[in-house]
Amino acid sequence: MDAMALRLDDVGAASKQHEVYGITRIPVGPVALPFPGNLLFLKYLPPIKRWAPYAEMTAAQWEGILTTLDAAKARLTVAVTAGWVERDGRIVPFPTKFPDQARALRGGRERGLLEIANHGYTHCVLEDALFRPRLFSGNRPYHREFYDWLPEDVHREHLRVSQDILGSWFGVAIETLVPPGNVLSAKTVRAAPAAGIRFISRAGGAPSGETAGVVFVDDTRVVAFHDRDLVRRGVPFLRQQLTAYGGATFVTVSDLGRQQVAER
Ligand SMILES: [Zn+2]
Repeated sequence: MDAMALRLDDVGAASKQHEVYGITRIPVGPVALPFPGNLLFLKYLPPIKRWAPYAEMTAAQWEGILTTLDAAKARLTVAVTAGWVERDGRIVPFPTKFPDQARALRGGRERGLLEIANHGYTHCVLEDALFRPRLFSGNRPYHREFYDWLPEDVHREHLRVSQDILGSWFGVAIETLVPPGNVLSAKTVRAAPAAGIRFISRAGGAPSGETAGVVFVDDTRVVAFHDRDLVRRGVPFLRQQLTAYGGATFVTVSDLGRQQVAER
């Protein structure tokens, strides 16, 4: 069995607070009836709420993850959003907002168990506070970052600043970009090399064929999940992933990228 990579997204992403939307259909027998799941408070109530809010993983939960990886001789790529967006739009760097978690991740990287990847600067659109929950609708479309309708310099700046925050905290070059929600534009790809990005991990490959010399990691070999899965289901969820692929060895996403380059 070939090497594969496990990729955990959304660490440090404030979308876990702000991306609020509800179910809009309820199955009743063979039909799905319309349901106003995005109305006012309804979207916050289980089982109507579909995504947020949920908690950031704690440092103790990270230690459990690291122990499990170590025992399985597996590595994990953690895609971190470098800035936490507060409700008023202020952006707080991940190591400032979550110092204990940031230390746990740094330890895990130093032990060789984790690759830290870039999962954007904000995970959402900041313009006009579009990321905030609304009264009468969901806000899911604005919880993506690298839309083509945003100007080229937004793509460049978000990459530059996020690379800066993560690179200085972790003390290593961050080589892999995981665009939030798989949304990526040719503008992002063109801006990537100057920010030190060598690999992009995303379902769907290069947008409009633009690669700018960046390697798009074969996504059939990447198993992506979210911190939400671990917050809700804990270490057993990770164990399940580790055994679900017939004895595959788990390397990092950037390792897969390097293999791809070598095989060319
Ligand atoms: Zn995400």
